[in-house]
Amino acid sequence: MTGAARRVHIVGAGLAGLSCAVELAASGVPVTTYEAAGHAGGRCRSWNDRVLDKIIDNGNHLLLSGNSSALDYLRRIGAGDALAGPPGAVLPFHDLGSGEGWVLRPNDGRVPWWLFAPSRRVPGAGAVAHLKGLAALARAPTQATVADALARNPLYRRLWEPLAVAVMNTRAADASALLLWRTVRETLGAGGRACRPLVARRGLGAAFVDPALRFLAEHGAEIRFGARLQAVAAEGARVAVLRFADTDVPLESDESVVLAVPPWSAGEILPDVTAPDRHHAIVNGHFRLDRAVELPGGAPLLGLVGGTAQWLFARDDVISVTVSAADALAERDGDAIAALLWADVAAALNLDGAAVPPHRIVKEKRATFAQTPDQAARRPGTRTALANLCLAGDWTDTGLPATIEGAIRSGQAAAGAVRDFAPENWNPAPPCAT
Ligand SMILES: Cc1cc2nc3c(=O)[nH]c(=O)nc-3n(C[C@H](O)[C@H](O)[C@H](O)COP(=O)(O)OP(=O)(O)OC[C@H]3O[C@@H](n4cnc5c(N)ncnc54)[C@H](O)[C@@H]3O)c2cc1C
Repeated sequence: MTGAARRVHIVGAGLAGLSCAVELAASGVPVTTYEAAGHAGGRCRSWNDRVLDKIIDNGNHLLLSGNSSALDYLRRIGAGDALAGPPGAVLPFHDLGSGEGWVLRPNDGRVPWWLFAPSRRVPGAGAVAHLKGLAALARAPTQATVADALARNPLYRRLWEPLAVAVMNTRAADASALLLWRTVRETLGAGGRACRPLVARRGLGAAFVDPALRFLAEHGAEIRFGARLQAVAAEGARVAVLRFADTDVPLESDESVVLAVPPWSAGEILPDVTAPDRHHAIVNGHFRLDRAVELPGGAPLLGLVGGTAQWLFARDDVISVTVSAADALAERDGDAIAALLWADVAAALNLDGAAVPPHRIVKEKRATFAQTPDQAARRPGTRTALANLCLAGDWTDTGLPATIEGAIRSGQAAAGAVRDFAPENWNPAPPCAT
């Protein structure tokens, strides 16, 4: 970068906006971030719940040790130790129908010898079935769904279907095979070393949000909460004014903007933007027990097959349940949901199914965009037809599903793009977003 650093205005303090702000502030660029809510974190946040008297997350968030951008971000903000997980790659499952349990245990290196060890793979299917499934996913055309690619594979119900729903928050019958392959390639494809399951030790806020806010404060970056961007005013092919409800923020000719809001907000601010426009819900149930519980299999989570609950997570005396692609479930009332989920928890962990413990049900109705091939084709790139405006967010074209890793990568990509922006050497990008 030449000359004095130019201010960047970042709209949205979810992980995409925060990672962009951190990246820029770390290299000395003045940053102002505007957040509509009274807190940062967006769809990845924690609070102290009054019913449970515990810090809970809006949803269980699983990362894998191959999520390199997320881990780099945590190290950068001084939270490198905020995630916890077992020393190796273990992914335990329990079949609620048959009562059978198994643990996927990929070996550390890239050569997948674990597939030849029956105790490390999905029971009832041999190494050839595992390999054929991976090959079918790798070869699937862009328009294929996970079911198109894998429905006939013997591991479909016990591996591919739950993975697709967990990773893409979309039923396997609709979800993009290509997006699942990209995740599998960066994790399973890189060996077990990239597949250790990691969860936030003391909650999402303590890992991803609070240390970032401290980092930004230490680097002189400003955050304005309760600031909802309503529109941008353009002059020629650049954004000249940011319009908030109670104020206008005029931009100097060399200042730039990163819009790191969800797709529905981006559509209101930039009516011509092409963006995914269908979403799916995730429902989480948090249950407070009278003692700490350990899940079987030596990991902080347990995959469930054949019930309503899909994944269990344990943190001290709280068991949390995740159900993705949960649009129908999210329409039911909280107590009905709690009873359904608790029945599955009790069956999996041999607990009393009748006495539903104190609980909190959290419904995120637009948890992520619907990650179908058609919706994925609507993801815009980082740069837009407005010279000084970039986009970030898990819904932009990161090449990955809508996850923490994708959101953070999008923020880092936008930071790189605006760092290069200078009015004198601007070459307009092909008009992809506005
Ligand atoms: C329940 C749940 C479970 C999940 N589980 C996982 C998981 O296990 N693993 C994983 O990797 N990912 C998971 N995800 C996905 C992950 O949380 C998201 O991909 C990520 O948090 C998205 O970050 P973002 O910054 O792109 O968007 P957001 O978090 O939506 O941030 C956008 C921010 O912009 C603000 N904003 C909106 N409009 C305006 C405006 N006009 N002006 C100013 N500010 C505005 C919003 O308030 C928000 O803070 C889950 C998500 C949910 C909801």
